[in-house]
Amino acid sequence: MKRVVEGLKGLILALLLLSFLLSGYLLFFSKSQVYGLDSLKSLPKEKTVVLRLSDNVSHVEIYLLQKDKKVRLLSQDLGDDKEVSVKIKPEKLGLEEGKARVVLELKRFGILTDRLEVNTLIDTKPPRINIIKSQYAVYQGGTGALRVKSSEPVKLSVKVGERLFKAYEVGNNTFISVFPIPVDTPPNTYVYVVAEDGAGNRSITGTGTRVKAFKFKSYTINLDGRELKIIGKLKEILGEDVSPDNFVEAFKKVNEQVRQENEEKIRELASDSLEKKLWEGKFLQLRNSKVVSLFGERRSYRYKGKFVSSSVHWGYDLASVKNAPVEAANSGRVIFTGYIGIYGNVVLIDHGFGIVSLYAHLAEFKVKRGDKVKKGQIIGITDATGLAFGDHLHFGVLVQGVEVNPIEWWDAKWVERNIQTVF
Ligand SMILES: [Zn+2]
Repeated sequence: MKRVVEGLKGLILALLLLSFLLSGYLLFFSKSQVYGLDSLKSLPKEKTVVLRLSDNVSHVEIYLLQKDKKVRLLSQDLGDDKEVSVKIKPEKLGLEEGKARVVLELKRFGILTDRLEVNTLIDTKPPRINIIKSQYAVYQGGTGALRVKSSEPVKLSVKVGERLFKAYEVGNNTFISVFPIPVDTPPNTYVYVVAEDGAGNRSITGTGTRVKAFKFKSYTINLDGRELKIIGKLKEILGEDVSPDNFVEAFKKVNEQVRQENEEKIRELASDSLEKKLWEGKFLQLRNSKVVSLFGERRSYRYKGKFVSSSVHWGYDLASVKNAPVEAANSGRVIFTGYIGIYGNVVLIDHGFGIVSLYAHLAEFKVKRGDKVKKGQIIGITDATGLAFGDHLHFGVLVQGVEVNPIEWWDAKWVERNIQTVF
């Protein structure tokens, strides 16, 4: 019995010793790992690189080598925390633009076990942007356009206030952009181009384009005396019963919550635009129509002497004869036909490069999603579907998913001078 116990003890000791040796062996001879090496592949003017090392590394040294120059970036013992951070400023270290190598030396118990090398490109020069075409002035709620050329390959966007808009590369580091000026952009805001090269150097260049104020109308609409007609519409949009008792509440819900959902849906749909110019010349206004409501109008609704709700009108209301044929304002591709709450039956046409036209309150569609349409082609019939009181067309233009003033797009000279010239 005693002998068995002794034997077991011996066996356990032997196993412990073996596992100790094995883990030591593994710790020493297992391969070291470095995570985050990709961030070393390019070095701009200044970069903080964070690397994480595997548990078996106890010391790390990092060097930057170029020609016969060797600069030590870091020499650090590692405890339990296996993350190291190093701020690299190639110019300050006396290195030149161009190719270089980063070498990492990893140690365990004071012995060098691994040597890793990463080829890198030092690029400390921010991209230079040459403005080829831009406007002198744009208006709140209007549309801007520009054409620029970069000194090197970049990611480029257009900055209007706090918002960034897309630019399309048309080859040879040349970019064009048609972008909206959101109605709430403060007057005297300047438009900038933001460019970032592959190494992460950024430049912000003024385009010379300045935002001018646009006077939007505001007025009050009294709901008194129109309850029954409005209740009918609210029922249609909400799909639930509305009585004179909850009429104000239902109106508020439709004019605020439903409106917002509908607008968000339209903005999302309008972001589906091809990188292709499908349109030509000015946009068409509904034939023989009278303008009954303008873009950007701020409407306040009152009932029994009290303020009920307010909204912004994101298009033009155009009245013609009852059930008038609606033409495509320009050539393009139908990206949506369907019912969108307060907008009723809607057609959306993509004209390319972020430009989309919208036709609302229609009776029926003469086109379907995916159809190519020609400027002037009949796409639907006017009506008063959605939150409309009387047959009319609500016409809108969206640029990069933001509603803009259609009046500019109806003006042949404006389109020619401001938009056509950047293409
Ligand atoms: Zn309207």
